[in-house]
Amino acid sequence: MSTLVFLEHHGNELSKAGLGVLSKAATLGDSDLSAVIIGTGVRPLADEVGKFGAAKVYVADDQQLDAPLPQPRVDVLAQLVRDQGIDTVLFANSVLAADVAAGLAARLDAGVNWDLTDLVQQDGKLVGKRPALQDSVYVDVGWTSEPRIALFRSGSFDPNASGGTAEVEDVQLALEDFSTAARMVDQAHEESEGPSIEDAQVIVAGGRGLGGPENFTLVEELAKALGGAVGATRAVVDAGWYPYSTQVGQTGKTVSPKLYIACGISGAIQHKVGMQSSGVIVAINKDPNAPIFEFSDLGVVGDVHEVVPKLTELVKQRKG
Ligand SMILES: Cc1cc2nc3c(=O)[nH]c(=O)nc-3n(C[C@H](O)[C@H](O)[C@H](O)COP(=O)(O)OP(=O)(O)OC[C@H]3O[C@@H](n4cnc5c(N)ncnc54)[C@H](O)[C@@H]3O)c2cc1C
Repeated sequence: MSTLVFLEHHGNELSKAGLGVLSKAATLGDSDLSAVIIGTGVRPLADEVGKFGAAKVYVADDQQLDAPLPQPRVDVLAQLVRDQGIDTVLFANSVLAADVAAGLAARLDAGVNWDLTDLVQQDGKLVGKRPALQDSVYVDVGWTSEPRIALFRSGSFDPNASGGTAEVEDVQLALEDFSTAARMVDQAHEESEGPSIEDAQVIVAGGRGLGGPENFTLVEELAKALGGAVGATRAVVDAGWYPYSTQVGQTGKTVSPKLYIACGISGAIQHKVGMQSSGVIVAINKDPNAPIFEFSDLGVVGDVHEVVPKLTELVKQRKG
């Protein structure tokens, strides 16, 4: 087995989701495990990759790779698969990673399994685990040919820096003409304060029980007091109360903070699948029969408008 993990970066940081996939791959016993970093000025990022289990890091560092466009990345990956005899390519899902994985599958006529939450060795074969039927069951999925391509739900695995160093190898860039035809005109960044929802150790999430978008200040203030990030349910995102980037769940993000505080959230299965691996789950809901209480570690039956401000006050007092 010869596995390659695609590592995305944002600014000067490798994405946690990609390092999580690399850490998972390292548990599968592949002594030939490698990773690839593609972009401009990314060479220094390679130094930390060995800690997460890669024996080798390929670096494609070139001005032509500055914009996060998929086709030049497909060129780099296709070249590595061909020249290095790679049989498995793994991605943590993102807008870019999904495009690159699909493009690579088309280029190499390879099979891609997406939306996986786990990967295991079963009877000498790689088997992916994919939630189905609104995440109520796990389906085993495999590949009938090589290379195998897999795309994991973001946040499925925590990065595990267990030590080690990786050999760093530069990739000689050879881009196809058609891969340089697209140009990125503009890239907008969302203004945000505090940690991102994927990286936060604490998430305070709000649901329809908050009663309106203006009441999100309650969860924002508690999140701020705890040094955490704000999450939301799809119901409130669909209603336009909060941005999609904060949606937790089946069609949003999978998160696993140490502490998840759910405020006015019913605990629908599609929300649960995105946060159930959190360390401690605290639920505040006025309905004692709300499903969220079935998988919470601590529950408060009460009105969010009363409980949340008191909690924020208590946290501030403790910190003070
Ligand atoms: C294919 C599919 C994909 C989906 N993907 C997602 C997803 O990614 N993420 C997601 O979250 N959902 C997703 N959903 C939607 C999901 O089924 C639920 O509809 C949604 O999670 C409900 O959001 P909610 O808990 O905010 O609202 P509700 O279900 O309306 O719950 C509101 C809760 O607030 C409580 N409440 C009301 N007032 C107060 C108060 N004053 N104080 C305290 N508690 C109060 C109520 O008792 C209730 O339990 C998906 C659905 C489908 C079909």
